[in-house]
Amino acid sequence: MRKIIQKQSGVAFRLKKGQFLKVIDPEGEQVSDMVVFNSKDIKEKISSGKTFDFEESILLTKNNFLWSNRSRKMMAIIDDTNGRNDFLLAPCSPETFEIMYDYSGYHPSCFENLSTNLKPFGIEPDDIPTAFNIFMNVTFDEEGKLAVKPPTSQANDYVEFKALMDVIVSLTACSAEDSNNGTFKPIHFEIR
Ligand SMILES: [Zn+2]
Repeated sequence: MRKIIQKQSGVAFRLKKGQFLKVIDPEGEQVSDMVVFNSKDIKEKISSGKTFDFEESILLTKNNFLWSNRSRKMMAIIDDTNGRNDFLLAPCSPETFEIMYDYSGYHPSCFENLSTNLKPFGIEPDDIPTAFNIFMNVTFDEEGKLAVKPPTSQANDYVEFKALMDVIVSLTACSAEDSNNGTFKPIHFEIR
């Protein structure tokens, strides 16, 4: 059954080992930040550094794995119809909008949406790692200069994961203007 994450919001839920999670961009050009924790021990969580180590790439797509801070495989990426995701940048937070957008006042953020939804699972804001940013299009040049470009995802592109342990997953529909080509859209997901 398809579930909807409204624009600029988030969800958190459990996945059993062996279950599949499909994250869908229903309209195109919309990022979804994902963090994953071991549901039996929330100190184990996805690690961008360990994933880059073991996958020997910073661009992760079909047939790659997301590894934990304890060097264990947490999620397998079994399908990816778009093929461009990011694991370099941290979730957008209230400070992102102050520092990078020169924005004052309240602005929804992935960090707030992840923290709020993970709170009932006993996960504190400081425990949130660098997210796996589904559909996020971050480019880099030879000098290491980074740029956030519009996602290449089109309507109904999806990434499908298989849980390799029992996990808690939090997903957002990202709230950062630059990551989503200026507009905010929902994200859909399915668990089977
Ligand atoms: Zn975001």
